[in-house]
Amino acid sequence: MAIQAIKGVKDILPADMPLWQHLEATARKLFEDYGFSEIRVPVFEYTELFARSIGVSTDIVEKEMYTFEDRDGRKITLRPEGTAGVVRAFVEHKMYAESQLTRLYYMGPMFRHERPQKGRYRQFYQIGVEALGLDHPHVDIEVLAMLHALFTRIGVGGLTLQINSLGDSECRGAYRDALKSYLKAKLPTLCGDCQRRYETNPLRVLDCKVDGDKFADSPIMLDYLCTPCKEHFETVEAGLRKLDIPFEINPRLVRGLDYYTRTTFELVMGHLGAQNTVAAGGRYDGLVREIGGPATGGIGFALGVERAISLMNSTNIARPCPALFLSALGAEAVAFALPILHDLRSAGIRVDTDYSGSSLKSQMKKADKSGADLTLIIGEQEIANGKAILRNMQTKEQSELLLATLKEDLKKRLLSA
Ligand code: ATP
Ligand code: MG
Repeated sequence: MAIQAIKGVKDILPADMPLWQHLEATARKLFEDYGFSEIRVPVFEYTELFARSIGVSTDIVEKEMYTFEDRDGRKITLRPEGTAGVVRAFVEHKMYAESQLTRLYYMGPMFRHERPQKGRYRQFYQIGVEALGLDHPHVDIEVLAMLHALFTRIGVGGLTLQINSLGDSECRGAYRDALKSYLKAKLPTLCGDCQRRYETNPLRVLDCKVDGDKFADSPIMLDYLCTPCKEHFETVEAGLRKLDIPFEINPRLVRGLDYYTRTTFELVMGHLGAQNTVAAGGRYDGLVREIGGPATGGIGFALGVERAISLMNSTNIARPCPALFLSALGAEAVAFALPILHDLRSAGIRVDTDYSGSSLKSQMKKADKSGADLTLIIGEQEIANGKAILRNMQTKEQSELLLATLKEDLKKRLLSA
């Protein structure tokens, strides 16, 4: 039997690529407009980086990581998310010494051993950003504005930006205690995960995929924020209003990763079912320090590319078609056309050909299918006359081009457009 791809991973085939490339190109342009620079970090890191930054009692670290020992006996993990590696690089290269605010973005595959289903894969792609260096609330507004702009630019509407504040080490303790006393009575009715999290990380109980909707009357962090956290949150809210960025406050929004502080957010879609979060992120003011750097503010988000793509409408996205189909009739013409093909391509003209040497009729079918606007026809007779035929595939009009000046002629027609 033929070998198949691993369960839960997915090939992204050429037919899907125009959407992927459109999303990636739109994100790149937008992020660069906002002053973010791309960073590429390895897809694998020492396991302890993820354990320490994401948190040992999170779903990701407890049960989703692809971890193995390499041949040197070191514990290695395929990255389940991007922030830990980016922050590790930020610290390792002392990027904090270069500027007050470092704005970075990344795109690439992430790996989590989850139960595969629609919108949930074991290798999936994220596009993410991190703004490191400041804890100023305007950075939060900038990052949220950029996330909003991205979905506007790719034409995806109907998403809701939900925000919350998770407070900081000053005020979260009191909330944690209040939440624990609230949860105590319910504990026997909750799932095993919740019972465990009650001890290790009670805020995460609110995020439970099984019991998450049982806590509508729980205490909320917003009632426990210390003055600086409260002011921070109010500035973010006011800024979003000023910029006309629609949002909702979801006072029970928590995130699956431990490093978040203060502003936390998700971009959710009504109809994606259980996989309804398209992008998520928040502030993580303790993380850089945790990874061995100086006390440094930070905020970022990551969007799930597969989920974003599933919301995009492909109709307005141009597929890259060849500009020209080269139709060589017969073996002699195929040989004759080889340097012509090479010349045109090296001049930057997108040319397709099939080397078949088959009949004009069958090649016109292929030319049509290729989507090329023009077909260049070269047969024995054309070689003898020193002229090729150029056919407009739409109007079916044909004209003759001198082989001697072919490259210049075609460059003029195709590259000026
Ligand atoms: P979920 O609650 O859906 O499990 P999460 O909180 O684990 O999401 P994050 O770690 O915040 O997700 O990742 C950010 C985004 O990456 C998610 O909002 C989602 O769009 C995407 N994502 C996360 N896990 C997967 C996966 N296994 N397959 C595809 N996309 C994913
Ligand atoms: Mg998850």
